[in-house]
Amino acid sequence: MNKISILGSGTSTGVPILGCKCRICQSNDPRNKRLRASVLIETKNSKSILVDTSPDLRAQLLNKNISSLDGVIITHDHADHTHGIDDLRPFSFQTQTPLPIFTDSETSLSLTTKFPYIFQRNKPIIGGGIPLLDLYPINEGPQQILDETFHFYFLPHGHGKSLCFFHEKFGYIVDCREILPQVLKSFREAKLDLLVIDCLRYQPHQTHLHLDLTLKYIEEIKPKKAILTHMGHEIEYSDIINQLSTLGYNSIFPAIDGQTFLYS
Ligand SMILES: [Zn+2]
Ligand SMILES: [Zn+2]
Repeated sequence: MNKISILGSGTSTGVPILGCKCRICQSNDPRNKRLRASVLIETKNSKSILVDTSPDLRAQLLNKNISSLDGVIITHDHADHTHGIDDLRPFSFQTQTPLPIFTDSETSLSLTTKFPYIFQRNKPIIGGGIPLLDLYPINEGPQQILDETFHFYFLPHGHGKSLCFFHEKFGYIVDCREILPQVLKSFREAKLDLLVIDCLRYQPHQTHLHLDLTLKYIEEIKPKKAILTHMGHEIEYSDIINQLSTLGYNSIFPAIDGQTFLYS
């Protein structure tokens, strides 16, 4: 079986939000503590693929005792998905070979501009070193990554777009304003065991899915199980579990950081 781990299920601020006094940010329930959104895929062929390098990356890798990676997929260039990229450095110390980073051309350009010391090396490295990373392009459609077949699609998000994908029976849809009909169709036809999907809060938002819209899309995609992610501090774990149960959804759950799931 393939395995995915939820490394973080929080929105861009994480939960709790620094300085916030709301009951969810003040909650002692560990299920209300959310690092920034990221997952790790460990395939049945022993490939470890990280999705996004959140600002919490070091803690996330330590929490899961992850000591090696084969590649990284970056969904889009927002800070909560990329600003932990320097935490990949220790993997370069060990291997001295570049780690492949897979992303679309716009995100590649943005990463190169934001992190020139990593991607535009034109001086000798002195001192602590840098992460050795090589960028590889992702285009829409099926694509081999580390001998695994992924199906990538772009979705509208903010001023740009964000990648979503499925790998065998696992789908990941993070950070998007809507899911386009042709993407819904492809995800439905994939007959997923597990879908991890954006659900920022209860109220509509300009750049993310909110609960009603997330539930509508889950009903259209029809995965065996759906897990809500990228949640803000409006969502309290016990409350939403009860609401989903009351609404009759018995295979949809909010994510908990650290959770793992198997899929075929
Ligand atoms: Zn995000
Ligand atoms: Zn984003």
